[in-house]
Amino acid sequence: MATAKAWVLKKHFEGFPKPSDFDLKKIELPKLKDGEILLESVFLSVDPYMRPYSKRDMKEGDIMIGTQVARITESKNPAFVVGSFVIANVGWRTHFISSGKGLRALPSTWPESLPRSLALGTVGMPGLTAYFGLLEVCKIKPGDTVLVNAAAGAVGSVVGQLAKIGGCKVVGCAGSDQKVAYLKNIGFDEVFNYKTVPSLEEALHKASPDGYDCFFDNVGGEFASVAIHQMKKYGRIAVCGAISLYNDLVPQKGPYIQYPMIFKELQMEGFIVHRWINRWEEGQQALLKWVLEGKIKYHEQITEGFDNMPAAFIGMLKGENLGKAIVKV
Ligand code: NDP
Repeated sequence: MATAKAWVLKKHFEGFPKPSDFDLKKIELPKLKDGEILLESVFLSVDPYMRPYSKRDMKEGDIMIGTQVARITESKNPAFVVGSFVIANVGWRTHFISSGKGLRALPSTWPESLPRSLALGTVGMPGLTAYFGLLEVCKIKPGDTVLVNAAAGAVGSVVGQLAKIGGCKVVGCAGSDQKVAYLKNIGFDEVFNYKTVPSLEEALHKASPDGYDCFFDNVGGEFASVAIHQMKKYGRIAVCGAISLYNDLVPQKGPYIQYPMIFKELQMEGFIVHRWINRWEEGQQALLKWVLEGKIKYHEQITEGFDNMPAAFIGMLKGENLGKAIVKV
Protein backbone atom coordinates (compact mmCIF):
# COMPACT_ATOMS: atom_id res chain seq x y z
CA MET A 1 0.00 0.00 0.00
CA ALA A 2 1.23 3.48 -0.83
CA THR A 3 0.33 6.84 0.58
CA ALA A 4 -0.08 9.61 -1.98
CA LYS A 5 0.27 13.30 -1.34
CA ALA A 6 -2.04 15.53 -3.38
CA TRP A 7 -2.59 19.27 -3.65
CA VAL A 8 -6.24 20.31 -3.73
CA LEU A 9 -7.82 23.61 -4.64
CA LYS A 10 -9.00 24.73 -1.22
CA LYS A 11 -10.48 27.99 -2.43
CA HIS A 12 -11.10 29.28 -5.93
CA PHE A 13 -8.46 31.87 -6.86
CA GLU A 14 -9.48 35.46 -6.56
CA GLY A 15 -7.01 37.54 -8.48
CA PHE A 16 -3.48 36.25 -8.14
CA PRO A 17 -3.28 32.72 -6.60
CA LYS A 18 -2.04 32.58 -2.98
CA PRO A 19 -0.46 29.71 -1.01
CA SER A 20 -3.55 29.62 1.22
CA ASP A 21 -5.72 28.69 -1.80
CA PHE A 22 -4.14 25.21 -1.75
CA ASP A 23 -4.29 22.32 0.70
CA LEU A 24 -1.95 19.33 0.91
CA LYS A 25 -3.81 16.05 1.49
CA LYS A 26 -2.71 12.49 2.14
CA ILE A 27 -4.51 9.66 0.38
CA GLU A 28 -4.07 5.98 1.26
CA LEU A 29 -4.07 3.98 -1.94
CA PRO A 30 -5.63 0.48 -1.93
CA LYS A 31 -3.89 -2.70 -3.08
CA LEU A 32 -3.66 -3.16 -6.82
CA LYS A 33 -6.37 -5.18 -8.54
CA ASP A 34 -5.71 -7.23 -11.66
CA GLY A 35 -5.19 -4.97 -14.66
CA GLU A 36 -3.98 -2.04 -12.53
CA ILE A 37 -0.62 -0.33 -12.11
CA LEU A 38 0.85 1.89 -9.40
CA LEU A 39 2.77 4.96 -10.50
CA GLU A 40 4.87 7.59 -8.79
CA SER A 41 5.20 11.09 -10.22
CA VAL A 42 8.77 12.05 -10.99
CA PHE A 43 8.28 15.44 -12.67
CA LEU A 44 5.14 17.57 -12.59
CA SER A 45 4.28 20.50 -14.80
CA VAL A 46 2.96 23.86 -13.66
CA ASP A 47 1.32 25.73 -16.53
CA PRO A 48 -0.57 28.99 -17.04
CA TYR A 49 -3.72 27.17 -18.26
CA MET A 50 -4.28 25.88 -14.71
CA ARG A 51 -5.32 29.37 -13.68
CA PRO A 52 -8.26 29.87 -16.13
CA TYR A 53 -9.14 26.15 -16.29
CA SER A 54 -9.44 25.90 -12.51
CA LYS A 55 -12.22 28.44 -12.69
CA ARG A 56 -13.90 26.76 -15.65
CA ASP A 57 -13.54 23.08 -14.74
CA MET A 58 -12.86 22.64 -11.03
CA LYS A 59 -14.71 22.91 -7.78
CA GLU A 60 -13.19 23.59 -4.39
CA GLY A 61 -11.75 20.39 -2.89
CA ASP A 62 -10.75 18.94 -6.28
CA ILE A 63 -7.16 17.85 -6.86
CA MET A 64 -5.33 20.48 -8.93
CA ILE A 65 -5.30 19.62 -12.63
CA GLY A 66 -2.02 18.86 -14.36
CA THR A 67 0.31 16.51 -16.13
CA GLN A 68 3.30 14.51 -14.91
CA VAL A 69 6.04 12.16 -15.98
CA ALA A 70 5.49 9.10 -13.82
CA ARG A 71 7.35 5.86 -13.21
CA ILE A 72 5.57 2.53 -12.92
CA THR A 73 6.46 1.02 -9.55
CA GLU A 74 4.07 -1.97 -9.46
CA SER A 75 2.14 -3.63 -12.24
CA LYS A 76 -0.67 -6.12 -12.46
CA ASN A 77 -1.14 -5.23 -16.10
CA PRO A 78 1.09 -7.08 -18.59
CA ALA A 79 1.04 -4.10 -20.99
CA PHE A 80 2.93 -1.95 -18.44
CA VAL A 81 6.40 -2.86 -17.26
CA VAL A 82 7.72 -1.83 -13.83
CA GLY A 83 10.41 0.85 -14.18
CA SER A 84 9.08 2.36 -17.41
CA PHE A 85 7.97 5.98 -17.68
CA VAL A 86 4.73 7.45 -18.99
CA ILE A 87 3.01 10.82 -19.30
CA ALA A 88 -0.14 10.99 -17.21
CA ASN A 89 -2.71 13.68 -16.75
CA VAL A 90 -3.94 12.99 -13.23
CA GLY A 91 -3.21 16.25 -11.44
CA TRP A 92 -0.94 17.29 -8.60
CA ARG A 93 -0.31 13.97 -6.81
CA THR A 94 2.73 11.94 -5.95
CA HIS A 95 1.28 8.44 -6.49
CA PHE A 96 -1.75 7.04 -8.25
CA ILE A 97 -3.31 3.84 -9.48
CA SER A 98 -4.28 3.50 -13.11
CA SER A 99 -5.80 0.95 -15.44
CA GLY A 100 -3.39 2.30 -18.06
CA LYS A 101 -6.13 4.16 -19.92
CA GLY A 102 -5.06 7.64 -20.97
CA LEU A 103 -1.38 7.08 -20.19
CA ARG A 104 1.00 8.06 -22.96
CA ALA A 105 4.39 6.39 -23.38
CA LEU A 106 7.44 8.56 -23.97
CA PRO A 107 8.52 8.31 -27.63
CA SER A 108 10.40 5.03 -28.10
CA THR A 109 13.35 6.98 -29.57
CA TRP A 110 13.83 8.94 -26.31
CA PRO A 111 17.55 8.74 -25.46
CA GLU A 112 18.73 8.02 -21.91
CA SER A 113 20.81 11.21 -21.99
CA LEU A 114 17.79 13.51 -22.37
CA PRO A 115 15.88 14.60 -19.24
CA ARG A 116 12.44 12.99 -19.23
CA SER A 117 11.03 16.27 -17.90
CA LEU A 118 11.33 17.61 -21.47
CA ALA A 119 8.25 15.53 -22.25
CA LEU A 120 6.34 18.17 -20.26
CA GLY A 121 8.02 21.10 -22.00
CA THR A 122 10.05 21.46 -25.18
CA VAL A 123 9.15 17.97 -26.42
CA GLY A 124 5.70 17.98 -24.82
CA MET A 125 2.52 20.00 -24.85
CA PRO A 126 4.17 23.48 -24.79
CA GLY A 127 6.60 22.59 -27.59
CA LEU A 128 3.72 21.16 -29.63
CA THR A 129 1.77 24.37 -29.04
CA ALA A 130 4.64 26.26 -30.65
CA TYR A 131 4.93 23.71 -33.47
CA PHE A 132 1.27 23.57 -34.50
CA GLY A 133 0.62 27.24 -33.74
CA LEU A 134 3.42 28.34 -36.06
CA LEU A 135 2.85 25.79 -38.82
CA GLU A 136 -0.93 25.61 -38.88
CA VAL A 137 -2.12 28.95 -37.53
CA CYS A 138 0.64 31.43 -38.37
CA LYS A 139 1.55 29.41 -41.46
CA ILE A 140 5.09 30.81 -41.39
CA LYS A 141 7.19 30.97 -44.54
CA PRO A 142 10.87 31.85 -45.03
CA GLY A 143 11.46 35.58 -44.88
CA ASP A 144 8.53 36.30 -42.53
CA THR A 145 9.10 38.45 -39.48
CA VAL A 146 7.62 36.74 -36.42
CA LEU A 147 6.84 38.43 -33.11
CA VAL A 148 6.43 36.36 -29.94
CA ASN A 149 5.82 37.50 -26.36
CA ALA A 150 6.44 35.60 -23.12
CA ALA A 151 9.31 34.59 -25.37
CA ALA A 152 11.58 33.08 -22.71
CA GLY A 153 8.88 30.73 -21.47
CA ALA A 154 8.04 27.13 -22.35
CA VAL A 155 6.05 27.92 -25.50
CA GLY A 156 7.70 31.19 -26.54
CA SER A 157 11.28 29.91 -26.49
CA VAL A 158 10.30 27.10 -28.87
CA VAL A 159 8.28 29.45 -31.08
CA GLY A 160 11.32 31.64 -31.70
CA GLN A 161 13.66 28.75 -32.41
CA LEU A 162 11.21 27.00 -34.73
CA ALA A 163 10.65 30.24 -36.61
CA LYS A 164 14.42 30.53 -37.07
CA ILE A 165 14.54 26.95 -38.37
CA GLY A 166 11.77 28.01 -40.77
CA GLY A 167 13.90 30.86 -42.15
CA CYS A 168 12.11 33.74 -40.39
CA LYS A 169 13.36 36.82 -38.58
CA VAL A 170 12.33 36.56 -34.92
CA VAL A 171 11.54 39.33 -32.46
CA GLY A 172 10.92 38.33 -28.84
CA CYS A 173 9.87 40.16 -25.68
CA ALA A 174 10.41 39.03 -22.13
CA GLY A 175 10.21 40.46 -18.63
CA SER A 176 13.83 40.49 -17.42
CA ASP A 177 17.30 41.31 -18.73
CA GLN A 178 18.43 37.77 -17.91
CA LYS A 179 15.67 36.43 -20.18
CA VAL A 180 16.63 38.90 -22.91
CA ALA A 181 20.26 37.70 -22.77
CA TYR A 182 19.15 34.07 -22.90
CA LEU A 183 16.98 34.66 -25.98
CA LYS A 184 19.79 36.43 -27.82
CA ASN A 185 22.00 33.51 -26.94
CA ILE A 186 19.62 30.96 -28.48
CA GLY A 187 19.34 32.87 -31.74
CA PHE A 188 16.50 35.39 -31.54
CA ASP A 189 17.29 38.32 -33.85
CA GLU A 190 15.84 41.12 -31.74
CA VAL A 191 14.79 40.96 -28.09
CA PHE A 192 13.70 43.53 -25.55
CA ASN A 193 12.51 43.70 -21.98
CA TYR A 194 8.91 44.86 -22.23
CA LYS A 195 8.97 45.95 -18.58
CA THR A 196 11.78 48.46 -18.98
CA VAL A 197 11.40 49.90 -22.50
CA PRO A 198 10.08 53.47 -22.32
CA SER A 199 7.53 52.76 -25.07
CA LEU A 200 6.33 49.35 -26.23
CA GLU A 201 5.21 50.87 -29.50
CA GLU A 202 8.67 52.31 -30.21
CA ALA A 203 10.45 49.12 -29.15
CA LEU A 204 8.32 47.04 -31.52
CA HIS A 205 8.90 49.51 -34.33
CA LYS A 206 12.65 49.62 -33.74
CA ALA A 207 12.90 45.82 -33.71
CA SER A 208 11.16 45.59 -37.09
CA PRO A 209 10.54 48.94 -38.82
CA ASP A 210 8.63 47.19 -41.65
CA GLY A 211 6.23 45.54 -39.21
CA TYR A 212 5.33 41.91 -38.56
CA ASP A 213 3.98 39.15 -40.78
CA CYS A 214 3.15 36.88 -37.84
CA PHE A 215 2.38 37.51 -34.21
CA PHE A 216 2.35 34.54 -31.84
CA ASP A 217 0.47 36.00 -28.89
CA ASN A 218 0.95 34.38 -25.49
CA VAL A 219 0.02 37.45 -23.48
CA GLY A 220 -3.03 39.28 -24.91
CA GLY A 221 -4.37 42.44 -23.27
CA GLU A 222 -2.51 45.69 -23.67
CA PHE A 223 0.54 44.14 -25.35
CA ALA A 224 -1.63 42.66 -28.11
CA SER A 225 -3.56 45.91 -28.50
CA VAL A 226 -0.30 47.75 -29.21
CA ALA A 227 1.28 45.04 -31.36
CA ILE A 228 -1.71 44.63 -33.67
CA HIS A 229 -1.09 48.10 -35.10
CA GLN A 230 2.36 47.02 -36.22
CA MET A 231 1.23 44.06 -38.26
CA LYS A 232 1.92 44.13 -41.99
CA LYS A 233 -0.98 44.00 -44.39
CA TYR A 234 -2.47 40.45 -44.48
CA GLY A 235 -0.55 39.60 -41.28
CA ARG A 236 -1.47 36.49 -39.28
CA ILE A 237 -2.02 36.45 -35.53
CA ALA A 238 -2.08 33.20 -33.55
CA VAL A 239 -3.94 33.79 -30.29
CA CYS A 240 -2.29 31.18 -28.10
CA GLY A 241 -2.70 32.60 -24.60
CA ALA A 242 -3.68 35.65 -22.64
CA ILE A 243 -1.63 35.41 -19.46
CA SER A 244 -1.90 39.14 -18.82
CA LEU A 245 -5.66 38.64 -18.25
CA TYR A 246 -5.81 35.37 -16.28
CA ASN A 247 -5.64 36.97 -12.83
CA ASP A 248 -7.92 39.92 -13.50
CA LEU A 249 -10.71 40.42 -11.01
CA VAL A 250 -12.48 42.82 -13.35
CA PRO A 251 -12.34 42.16 -17.11
CA GLN A 252 -10.14 44.68 -18.91
CA LYS A 253 -11.75 46.97 -21.48
CA GLY A 254 -10.56 47.79 -25.05
CA PRO A 255 -8.85 49.35 -26.96
CA TYR A 256 -10.63 47.51 -29.70
CA ILE A 257 -9.08 45.73 -32.62
CA GLN A 258 -11.50 46.24 -35.48
CA TYR A 259 -9.67 49.12 -37.20
CA PRO A 260 -6.34 47.36 -37.70
CA MET A 261 -8.13 44.07 -38.44
CA ILE A 262 -10.06 45.70 -41.28
CA PHE A 263 -7.56 48.11 -42.75
CA LYS A 264 -4.61 45.71 -42.59
CA GLU A 265 -6.84 42.78 -43.61
CA LEU A 266 -5.44 40.64 -40.80
CA GLN A 267 -6.21 37.06 -39.90
CA MET A 268 -6.53 36.26 -36.21
CA GLU A 269 -7.15 32.73 -34.97
CA GLY A 270 -7.37 31.30 -31.49
CA PHE A 271 -6.34 27.71 -30.99
CA ILE A 272 -5.94 24.95 -28.42
CA VAL A 273 -3.08 22.58 -29.09
CA HIS A 274 -5.26 19.50 -28.61
CA ARG A 275 -6.84 20.24 -31.99
CA TRP A 276 -3.84 18.33 -33.41
CA ILE A 277 -3.92 15.42 -30.95
CA ASN A 278 -3.90 12.97 -33.88
CA ARG A 279 -0.58 14.51 -35.04
CA TRP A 280 1.02 14.52 -31.57
CA GLU A 281 3.61 11.91 -32.49
CA GLU A 282 4.65 13.73 -35.66
CA GLY A 283 5.23 16.91 -33.66
CA GLN A 284 7.05 15.15 -30.83
CA GLN A 285 9.36 13.32 -33.21
CA ALA A 286 10.19 16.57 -35.03
CA LEU A 287 10.89 18.42 -31.77
CA LEU A 288 12.93 15.54 -30.36
CA LYS A 289 15.06 15.44 -33.51
CA TRP A 290 15.76 19.18 -33.41
CA VAL A 291 16.62 19.01 -29.70
CA LEU A 292 19.04 16.14 -30.31
CA GLU A 293 20.62 18.00 -33.23
CA GLY A 294 21.08 21.05 -31.00
CA LYS A 295 18.82 23.15 -33.25
CA ILE A 296 16.39 23.70 -30.39
CA LYS A 297 17.95 24.60 -27.06
CA TYR A 298 16.02 24.26 -23.83
CA HIS A 299 16.12 25.55 -20.29
CA GLU A 300 14.09 24.26 -17.38
CA GLN A 301 13.25 26.01 -14.14
CA ILE A 302 13.24 23.08 -11.76
CA THR A 303 11.68 23.46 -8.32
CA GLU A 304 12.65 20.65 -5.98
CA GLY A 305 9.99 18.99 -3.85
CA PHE A 306 6.32 18.18 -4.30
CA ASP A 307 5.47 20.34 -1.30
CA ASN A 308 6.61 23.37 -3.33
CA MET A 309 4.07 22.95 -6.16
CA PRO A 310 1.97 26.00 -5.24
CA ALA A 311 5.13 28.14 -4.95
CA ALA A 312 6.32 26.94 -8.37
CA PHE A 313 2.92 27.66 -9.92
CA ILE A 314 2.68 31.13 -8.39
CA GLY A 315 6.31 31.86 -9.32
CA MET A 316 5.64 30.90 -12.95
CA LEU A 317 2.64 33.23 -13.12
CA LYS A 318 4.88 36.00 -11.76
CA GLY A 319 7.50 35.34 -14.44
CA GLU A 320 10.13 33.73 -12.20
CA ASN A 321 10.72 30.92 -14.69
CA LEU A 322 13.24 30.87 -17.51
CA GLY A 323 12.06 28.16 -19.89
CA LYS A 324 9.70 25.48 -18.67
CA ALA A 325 8.59 25.50 -15.04
CA ILE A 326 8.88 21.96 -13.66
CA VAL A 327 8.57 20.44 -10.21
CA LYS A 328 10.83 17.51 -9.39
CA VAL A 329 9.33 15.33 -6.68
P1 NDP B 1 5.62 30.43 -19.65
O1 NDP B 1 6.66 29.40 -19.44
O2 NDP B 1 5.82 31.43 -20.74
O3 NDP B 1 5.37 31.15 -18.27
C1 NDP B 1 4.53 32.24 -18.18
C2 NDP B 1 5.28 33.55 -18.51
O4 NDP B 1 4.32 34.54 -18.84
C3 NDP B 1 6.04 34.13 -17.34
O5 NDP B 1 7.32 33.56 -17.20
C4 NDP B 1 6.09 35.61 -17.67
O6 NDP B 1 7.28 35.89 -18.39
C5 NDP B 1 4.89 35.81 -18.61
N1 NDP B 1 3.89 36.68 -17.99
C6 NDP B 1 3.25 36.51 -16.83
N2 NDP B 1 2.39 37.54 -16.60
C7 NDP B 1 2.51 38.36 -17.65
C8 NDP B 1 1.91 39.60 -18.00
N3 NDP B 1 0.99 40.18 -17.23
N4 NDP B 1 2.29 40.20 -19.16
C9 NDP B 1 3.22 39.62 -19.96
N5 NDP B 1 3.82 38.44 -19.68
C10 NDP B 1 3.47 37.82 -18.53
O7 NDP B 1 4.22 29.72 -19.92
P2 NDP B 1 3.85 28.80 -21.17
O8 NDP B 1 4.91 28.93 -22.18
O9 NDP B 1 3.49 27.49 -20.67
O10 NDP B 1 2.53 29.51 -21.72
C11 NDP B 1 2.62 30.73 -22.44
C12 NDP B 1 1.22 31.11 -22.92
O11 NDP B 1 0.74 30.11 -23.82
C13 NDP B 1 0.19 31.22 -21.80
O12 NDP B 1 -0.68 32.30 -22.09
C14 NDP B 1 -0.56 29.91 -21.91
O13 NDP B 1 -1.86 29.99 -21.40
C15 NDP B 1 -0.54 29.68 -23.41
N6 NDP B 1 -0.70 28.28 -23.82
C16 NDP B 1 -1.68 28.02 -24.72
C17 NDP B 1 -1.85 26.76 -25.21
C18 NDP B 1 -2.91 26.51 -26.24
O14 NDP B 1 -3.17 25.36 -26.58
N7 NDP B 1 -3.54 27.55 -26.76
C19 NDP B 1 -1.04 25.63 -24.72
C20 NDP B 1 0.03 26.03 -23.81
C21 NDP B 1 0.16 27.32 -23.36
P3 NDP B 1 7.89 37.38 -18.45
O15 NDP B 1 8.98 37.41 -17.42
O16 NDP B 1 8.42 37.46 -19.84
O17 NDP B 1 6.80 38.35 -18.15
